[in-house]
Amino acid sequence: MGTKVTLIPGDGIGPEVTDAARLVADATGVSIDWEVVEAGEKAIAKKGTPLPPEVLDSLRRNKVGIKGPITTPIGSGFRSVNVALRQELDLYASLRPARAIAGEGTRYPDVDLVVVREAMEGLYSGVEHWVDRDHSAGETINIITRKESARICRFAFDYAIRNHRKKVTAVHKANIMKVTGGLFQEVFREVAREYPSIAAEERLVDNMCMQLVKKPEEYDVLVTTNLFGDILSDLCAGLAGGLGVAPGALFGESIALFEPVHGSAPKYAGQDKADPVAEILCLELLLRHLGHSEAAQRVFRAVWEVIYEKKVVTYDLALPGYTMRPTRPSKCSEMAKEIARKVPQVDISKPLPTPPGARAQSSVKLANDTHLED
Ligand code: NAD
Repeated sequence: MGTKVTLIPGDGIGPEVTDAARLVADATGVSIDWEVVEAGEKAIAKKGTPLPPEVLDSLRRNKVGIKGPITTPIGSGFRSVNVALRQELDLYASLRPARAIAGEGTRYPDVDLVVVREAMEGLYSGVEHWVDRDHSAGETINIITRKESARICRFAFDYAIRNHRKKVTAVHKANIMKVTGGLFQEVFREVAREYPSIAAEERLVDNMCMQLVKKPEEYDVLVTTNLFGDILSDLCAGLAGGLGVAPGALFGESIALFEPVHGSAPKYAGQDKADPVAEILCLELLLRHLGHSEAAQRVFRAVWEVIYEKKVVTYDLALPGYTMRPTRPSKCSEMAKEIARKVPQVDISKPLPTPPGARAQSSVKLANDTHLED
C-alpha cells in the first residue's frame, strides 16, 4: 500500500497539469495511492457546491494533497474555493519558491528566493460590504492579528533555519497602514529577536517591488501579509521564468497542500498546451515533504535537463526573444513524458549544467537546496 495523497485536478488546465504530475510521480517509483476528489466547476455541476465536504474530509484524513488551479468567478458568483480551503483547513502559510530553472526564459538566471505569505487573514478575510444602498462605495476589511502575524513570521524564520537560508525580509506598508501594517511590523521585530542567527530586515511593499526587479539576487526569504504575498509571488514567478514554472505549497499545523502559483488559464483548457512544470515542481515539493528526497531530486534534475536541452518544451519556454534557442513548442503531455522518461535515468550526483548567464556557484546551490525539510 502506497502513501495516500489527496488529488484535486481542478479547473481549466488543472486536469492536464495534474495528469502530467501523476505521470512523473509514477516514473519515480514512489508508491502513492491517489485519492481523487473534485472541487470547483465540476463539483458544482455534480454536487451543487464548489467545495464538497469529501474534499475537506480527504485532506483531513490524508494530511497531504496536491491540487490543480480552481477558477474563481470575478466580481460575483461563488466565494474562492482556494481561500475557503485555506481557511477551513487552517492552511496558514503559503510558500512560493522562485528559482530560475536553467536560466531559460528569465532575465534573472540567479534568482533563488522564497515568498512566505500569510494565507488566513488580511484583505482576503472575506469581510466586505457596500456602504450604501446605491452601491456607490464599498469596504473590504484588512484584518491583521498578533496571533497570525507571529505564526507566519515564525514559519518564515523556521523555514530559513531548516533550509540554510541567511535572511528574512518582512514586507509591509506600515508607514500608511499604521494599525495593521504597524502591528505586522512590530510582531516581525519581536519574532526576529528569537532567531539571532538569521538576518532580519524590512521593506515597504512598493520599494520591495522595485528592488526585486532591480536586484532580486539580494533577497532570500520574504515574509508578508496575504494580498502583498499574492502579488509579490506572481512578480517573483515572473523573475524566475513565468507562471508556467512556479510551484507553491500551503502548510497548516498538520496538513500540507501543494499547488502551483498559476491559475486555471481557461483560454488554454483542453488544448494540451499549458506548461506542466509548475505542477511537476509541486510534486517535487510534495515528495520532499513525504521524505522521498532522492525521488524529489530526480524530478528536479529531470525538469532542469528538459528545459536546459530545450528540445521538448511548451510554448512559454519555446518563445523566441531572450531565450537561447527558439524551439517548436511541444504539448503539455509531450513535455511531461520527456520529464518522466528522464526521471529514472538522471545522475543526481553530477553538477547541473550552468545556465546561460548564471553564476556557476549559484546554479549548484539551486540544485542542492532542500527548500522543504527533508
Ligand atoms: P492564470 O494564472 O490562469 O493565467 C495568467 C497568465 O499566465 C495567462 O496568460 C495564462 O495563459 C498564463 N499561464 C498560467 N498558467 C500557465 C501554464 N501552466 N502554462 C503556460 N501559461 C500559463 O491567471 P488568471 O487568468 O488571472 O486566472 C484564471 C483563473 O484562475 C481565475 O478564475 C482565478 O481566480 C483562478 N486562479 C486560481 C488559482 C488557484 O487555484 N490557486 C490561482 C490563481 C488564479
